[in-house]
Amino acid sequence: MRKPFVAGNWKMNKTGEEARTLVAEMLPELQAASSIDRAVCPPFPYLMSVSAMLAGTGVGLGAQNMYWEASGAFTGEVSPAMVAEFCQYVILGHSERRAYFGETDETVNRKVKAAFANHLIPIMCVGETLEENETGRTAEVVERQVRGGMNGLEAEQAAQLVVAYEPVWAIGTGRAASAEGANAVHADVIRRVLKNMFGSDVSQAVRIQYGGSVNAKNAAELFAMPDIDGALVGGAALKPADFIAIIKAASTRAG
Ligand code: PEP
Repeated sequence: MRKPFVAGNWKMNKTGEEARTLVAEMLPELQAASSIDRAVCPPFPYLMSVSAMLAGTGVGLGAQNMYWEASGAFTGEVSPAMVAEFCQYVILGHSERRAYFGETDETVNRKVKAAFANHLIPIMCVGETLEENETGRTAEVVERQVRGGMNGLEAEQAAQLVVAYEPVWAIGTGRAASAEGANAVHADVIRRVLKNMFGSDVSQAVRIQYGGSVNAKNAAELFAMPDIDGALVGGAALKPADFIAIIKAASTRAG
């Protein structure tokens, strides 16, 4: 069985002190939840201090983005090796990066490859907009994003990648996808495409998180679905009690 994986995407929130307080509040229960993989993804400036707090706890750390080049004249960017100094994971292709910072399937693909070259596990985000959803284009869009983002990967790399299915209309809106609806995209679109690209073993190994208004109330229902292997959590990841409730719901699934 795939090990559940819950990651908290803090986006551009918190002061340094608030970030460390948030981690300290959640750490005992995050550490205890050792039957699942769990990680926090704070903003770049806090990665160093949070990584020191997480050392030896089994709780993972992720960045929210990175550039694909190793070094050079790329003012304001952060390289894969810089991220890998502190993190095990990196979120790539989040819909906010696609919408506001011009990321495309091609740039996401470059970043995914650079992540693997630097021993980072990518959490690659895909998902359709409201308009795409309402015009019946979900499968087409998600298939294009999965194919584009994972183009050229070795099967062993593909098996380690984490896909986060995040319908854009569900992110930060309080309107999560239904458990059945999300599971159908995971199984009938994402796993089907993975099988086509990399074979059956890889398609069954890849963990697919659901993201979009996951909260303490809906987490258990989502995690009960066979193809929902965890969550990428935004707003609720900033509230210790809510994030821990989500972590516990995933631990229950792990058994
Ligand atoms: C996200 O930031 O990836 C996300 C899913 O946000 P929220 O949980 O707030 O919808």
